[in-house]
Amino acid sequence: MRGYAGKFAEVDLSCGEVKETVFGEETLKQYLGGRGLAAKLLWDRLGEIWERVDPLGPENILTIFAGPLTGYYPGSKMCISGKSPLTLGIVGSTVAGEHAVDMRCAGFDGLIIKGRAEKPVYLLVTDDGVEIRDASHVWGKGRVETYRILLREALQLLEGRSPGSREWREPSILHIGPAAEKMSRVTAVQTKWAHGAGYGGYGAVMGSKNLKAVLFKGLGPLPEAWDMGRAREIIWRILRICFRSDSMRRWGTGAAGYDVGSRLSSEPVRNWQDEWHDERSFGVDRFEERVWVKRYWGDFGCPSTCLKLSVVRAGPYKGAVCDNPDYENQAYLGTNLGVFTPEENVYLCSLMEELGFCGIQVGNTLGFAAELYQRGILTKEDLGFELRWGDVKGFERLMKMMAEREGIGDILAEGTYRAALKLGKLKGLDLTRYAVTEKGMGIGAHGIRSKLDYVEAVSYPCSVQGGDHTSPAMRDIRKGDSELTVILHDSGVYCWFNIMKDEALDLIWELIQAVTGWQITADTWYKEMALRILAIQRAALLVGGPDITWKPIKDDDLPARWYEPLPSGPYKGRASDKKELEEDRRRYFEDVGWDERGIPKSSTLKCLGLEAVDKKLRSFLGNQ
Ligand code: SF4
Repeated sequence: MRGYAGKFAEVDLSCGEVKETVFGEETLKQYLGGRGLAAKLLWDRLGEIWERVDPLGPENILTIFAGPLTGYYPGSKMCISGKSPLTLGIVGSTVAGEHAVDMRCAGFDGLIIKGRAEKPVYLLVTDDGVEIRDASHVWGKGRVETYRILLREALQLLEGRSPGSREWREPSILHIGPAAEKMSRVTAVQTKWAHGAGYGGYGAVMGSKNLKAVLFKGLGPLPEAWDMGRAREIIWRILRICFRSDSMRRWGTGAAGYDVGSRLSSEPVRNWQDEWHDERSFGVDRFEERVWVKRYWGDFGCPSTCLKLSVVRAGPYKGAVCDNPDYENQAYLGTNLGVFTPEENVYLCSLMEELGFCGIQVGNTLGFAAELYQRGILTKEDLGFELRWGDVKGFERLMKMMAEREGIGDILAEGTYRAALKLGKLKGLDLTRYAVTEKGMGIGAHGIRSKLDYVEAVSYPCSVQGGDHTSPAMRDIRKGDSELTVILHDSGVYCWFNIMKDEALDLIWELIQAVTGWQITADTWYKEMALRILAIQRAALLVGGPDITWKPIKDDDLPARWYEPLPSGPYKGRASDKKELEEDRRRYFEDVGWDERGIPKSSTLKCLGLEAVDKKLRSFLGNQ
């Protein structure tokens, strides 16, 4: 078999056992890797009891998977999955970096982690295998110290074992912060000093397993390709397409920081009460002038180099460091909180990363809390202080309380939707109307009311990943940014920023063949393989549990906020249209082979070879 290391490490943290698992060639071909293979594995092992699996219990399985194109396609990524503590379904959450390449060079395509360690541990993945090592000395520490201590330790260890190995590349790392150790659902699996897999809440899953970090260092080559000459030729063609994207290299996603608010009217402003602003202080040029210290910085093997490093050099936030201008962090820890200066935004992002939160999720929850304060629903007595829009000190204090699960921070650490339910009960009010979430997940920073952004009415309600803006459902299911296409990238596993142009997407089938030898066509993907993965993810979402179950149709809706008209800007008055959503949703369900309630049809599941999923769904929904 080509394109795969051929084995997965299966780690049982409860008994400290590590063994190797292999998947048959047909399974790998049908599910590729990453998100697809994780969905298959999770359902096979936990599907029968899915509604009883506590995402934060030892029974949950955390998967850390690469894909056959990781390291071959420009821009390498890792896909992290499991039963999501936010949606209760399966979310494929990806993060870029060299960790996946290191893992594959060490001879593994992925890690399957189950159980719960008695005391904090980290995993060291090398050519010698997977070791479980003590992490008590870094438990409770933030990103900077964790990164420094563990890397120094690993470098010394590896240098002793294979002298010279530290010279060409340091080990790569996935880790969690203090908030994830306390199992806040709005936390990320982080890498390096910035960057994280935030969607899904898998930082909390690592915390629940007492797993502080995973370090990778592979000294071998990538798994052999079926036709390396052909692969090299296609990769060069893809690189040439990516090199044309000068704006991505110069501005990264940060160019959107001003543009999405002012031109598209689709940026969260004060918990989505508005989506328009004209704050030039938040323009990308201000970030460039005032906080960026590097113009070109990219993840392993990436020609787009969209990353920047931001440092506050003077003033009250001096020393704050983060990888802004990531648009989502700019929006959620900026405009969404009424914060409109680069320095304050960088400070909040830096704190978020130090504590181990996901910028989108924690920004969504902080905005929700601030709106409750604005409306007098939460008071100074509830919080212990005042919380006004733009008040960086107030948001800093609340974020720290969430990380410590102190006072009201304990409720907010559960994420916006669960906090809305709990606080609503305490206050005797329906607070879910202020929660801009989808299936328990804070929605990405792209609104739909103005109809100018890339997302559509069905994008969030029909996505099997809830509010994930990188995995939106689209009426045209074969579109370049449709959920079915994203499943390909997340299973491949590589950065989809490098495949935004259709001409790059056209080459993907050829590259898959050159690397694996398999002939997968666009037709096979969209009519069969992607639908299979989508159906498993939808089934898991519908079954949900143990604390929440999503109701078909009722919960396949937009947040209440988006039915309110936009209050300002050039598109003032625009709102979502329920009838339009209903029609688009009906069409989408039909196109992916689901019935009018969005339940995958028996005939569809049987055609896809998913009889067990069908049986479980019928019996579960029949008993509802
Ligand atoms: S495009 Fe940006 S996020 Fe994607 S791999 Fe390259 S540097 Fe990383």
